[in-house]
Amino acid sequence: MKFNTQVIHGGNSEDPTTGAVSIPIYRASTFHQSEVGGQAKWEYGRSGNPTRAALEKLIAELEGGQAGFAFASGSAAIHAVFSLFSAGDHIIVGNDVYGGTFRLINQVLKRFGLTFTVVDTRDLVAVQAAIQANTRAIYLETPTNPLLRISDIAQIAQIAKKHDLKTIVDNTFATPYNQNPLRLGADIVVHSATKYLGGHSDVVAGLAVTNDDKIAEQLAFLQNAIGSVLGPDDSWLLQRGIKTLGVRMRVHDENTQIINDYLTSNSKVANIYYPGDQRSVSFEVAKRQMRSFGAMISFELQPELDAKKFVNSLKLIDLAESLGGVESLVEIPAIMTHGSIPRDVRLKNGIQDGLIRLSVGLEDSEDLLDDLKQAFAKI
Ligand SMILES: *Cc1c(COP(=O)(O)O)cnc(C)c1O
Repeated sequence: MKFNTQVIHGGNSEDPTTGAVSIPIYRASTFHQSEVGGQAKWEYGRSGNPTRAALEKLIAELEGGQAGFAFASGSAAIHAVFSLFSAGDHIIVGNDVYGGTFRLINQVLKRFGLTFTVVDTRDLVAVQAAIQANTRAIYLETPTNPLLRISDIAQIAQIAKKHDLKTIVDNTFATPYNQNPLRLGADIVVHSATKYLGGHSDVVAGLAVTNDDKIAEQLAFLQNAIGSVLGPDDSWLLQRGIKTLGVRMRVHDENTQIINDYLTSNSKVANIYYPGDQRSVSFEVAKRQMRSFGAMISFELQPELDAKKFVNSLKLIDLAESLGGVESLVEIPAIMTHGSIPRDVRLKNGIQDGLIRLSVGLEDSEDLLDDLKQAFAKI
């Protein structure tokens, strides 16, 4: 089955008891059991729910894994995955991962005795050099936020395998439409499904997928033991969102290429960060591991121009955090999403004060260009 068919007919596309073509919302906390100590398929809503299970089966298929797990948020999914490790274990983490992931690592997981080394995962020598005797995993994002940096998943997974480490990839920005880390050698994929998978800025959810039996068993245990599961209503909403992932991503990608072309030809733009930029040093890696380049694009204006004034002048493109919805969103990471990172650390990571991040939506590209043009005329 190809992607657009799979998002609609994959998983449990029909309810097994009624034939309903949309899996019903099974809003039940407990299920009748036919005998004491029998083997009931459904017992208790945290341990398993048919609506959630349909979603989990679908995401496992879309990522080419064997088991999927749905959580109350992307952060909850990431927490459950890190809970596979124990005090004294060491994990290598990409230096440009989601801010909330850094917060989880530094303010929660370190208190439980996990240790971390932060490296630029584009640099394979640095990744290799960070491996210690107690290293258990490499955790990375590609493309990253907000600089859309690309790391070579296949190469990193190869290094990891050689040292018996697990490779974990946050695939939120690419989505399974554009990239399948498990097929490139990764062991676990996590998603903030709040973004493109939900796609309509109306649900907070997280997913994890693995292709390893033992990890699947452990994640099932942790999902139930920690208990940060996705409820049946949100599971249904997310599955509905995923049915249109392919058609949405196609237009997201097209619109972003059009905007990239426009920004490239605009003399008021100093730098563009976009995985599909052919001048980028990582374009070859991006082309190899991604089907298309996603819909996140960041850029800097010429130094004398006022980024805040530019962003405030946009009318159609909404000023807001988050990304991946049908509506285009714009923000200034230094002030908004990445405002909690100390300025010197942020600058060292390449995030300038005036960097502008755009999550390109599904509006007509002519209208998006008109909005950008009128804001450029104001600066
Ligand atoms: C938003 C995001 C998260 C966190 O997900 P929530 O659903 O907000 O908890 C994790 N990783 C990336 C890349 C994200 O963009």
